[in-house]
Amino acid sequence: MSASAQFTITFHSHFAQALPELGTPWEAQKVLTPRLLALNEPLAAELGLDPTALQGPDGLLLLTGNLVPEGAAPVAQVYAGHQFGHYSPRLGDGRALLLGEITDANGRLRDVHLKGSGRTPFARGGDGQAAVGPMLREYILSEAMHALGIPTTRSLAVTSTGRPVHRETELPGAVLTRVASSHLRVGTFQYARATGDTELLRRLADHAIARHYPAAANAENPYIALLKAVITAQASLVAQWMLAGFVHGVMNTDNMTISGETIDYGPCAFMDAFDPSTVYSSIDQAARYAYANQPAAAEWNLARLAESLLPLLHENEQQAVEIATDALDGFAADYAAAWARGASEKIGLRHDVDGDAASVLMQEFLVVLEAHQVDLTLAFRHLGAAASGSAERARSLFGGAAGFDDWMERWLRLGPDGELMSQVNPIYIPRNHLVEEALASATEGDLAPLHRLLNAVTRPYEERPGLERYAASAPADFGDYKTFCGT
Ligand code: AMP
Ligand code: MG
Repeated sequence: MSASAQFTITFHSHFAQALPELGTPWEAQKVLTPRLLALNEPLAAELGLDPTALQGPDGLLLLTGNLVPEGAAPVAQVYAGHQFGHYSPRLGDGRALLLGEITDANGRLRDVHLKGSGRTPFARGGDGQAAVGPMLREYILSEAMHALGIPTTRSLAVTSTGRPVHRETELPGAVLTRVASSHLRVGTFQYARATGDTELLRRLADHAIARHYPAAANAENPYIALLKAVITAQASLVAQWMLAGFVHGVMNTDNMTISGETIDYGPCAFMDAFDPSTVYSSIDQAARYAYANQPAAAEWNLARLAESLLPLLHENEQQAVEIATDALDGFAADYAAAWARGASEKIGLRHDVDGDAASVLMQEFLVVLEAHQVDLTLAFRHLGAAASGSAERARSLFGGAAGFDDWMERWLRLGPDGELMSQVNPIYIPRNHLVEEALASATEGDLAPLHRLLNAVTRPYEERPGLERYAASAPADFGDYKTFCGT
């Protein structure tokens, strides 16, 4: 392995150097016959990586960790986490590596990370592998989220490895090259706290502040400011999920970032018909991470972060607990404010003018949606047309129900802005039946459906002729959708 002159960019190894206790130096497994299945050229350019060079032989080696670029010092990160409420003291990257960081075109530090790059010391019983389908799934979902304007980790590439992966059947293996503003998780803080080494915890917190919340460094107590900033960022993130009908599915504390980006696209999915009890994950038997439970799950996770930070919040434990409780009390208000802002926009009203009325109208609309089992995405999109004078498509979604007509009449009186609505209510989301279709074809070697779907969902607000089937809800025979985790 050697660095190549083709990649003039220098990687950093800030995390590896600043926090050696939280990363084990490790190498990616050898790829046998790498083949690029998806490459995010705009993201590559943003990172200063030449998309043409990435498609060459050395590019494929770089994207799979088989060529360690100048300055990189790959590590498998260690973290703890509550999984479905149960604490695991040592999880860590079982099949992933942090390659290093890149300073992007905007001067921001970005992690370049590999998923499916082989077993690490944290693999436990796992095989360290990832299959083509789930890695492309993360690529589609994360890039759709980004296009929707929802904070998320990004996908730079999916490369098939030529190595078979043994699941229920034998599947082709792949590596996802993921980009994130960092991979610091609530679980990273839980791990650092559990070591009992307060100086390590402080170094981790300082690292997080420098990377994500530099203004917190100037606060009287930077660690209280950090906690509050993460609470606000997560409250805003989950509000955006709720408004978009996104169900994360595995909101364990190791899958919640400090940055406020969505991470770990395993069993997640977007809802078709609006139903707050929606659960997609086949392993979430108790419906812990059902759509409607997501704000509470986030708050629960943030309480675990607050507990981890206690020694930094105040030297007196009782006072530290009071500070933490006070910060956590802010979650509900932060969430409500973020939701109300987004809700106003979705129904075309101005939050500063009609804020309270808009929130009430939105709540009422969701009740009507649920009662009539109407597609969430189409409902908002067609409402936009109704605001601009053509209500037929919206009315037909509700089958002419009086409840909807009554609601619409009251809403139209406030003069909603149809133009604004078409900028915030997508026409194309990664619908489950389309995602499954694209993944099944890709696994069989046909990438065309994947690229057609990506084309639709990465420009989600722009209605285009010929893409009608990407706007339609699932066919009736698609059935009860279930997703699988850890695949
Ligand atoms: P996740 O449910 O994807 O958040 O994963 C939870 C933990 O299991 C993380 O520590 C992962 O790195 C690890 N893990 C998941 N799948 C595998 C696998 N196939 N091999 C090794 N570790 C895995
Ligand atoms: Mg995870």
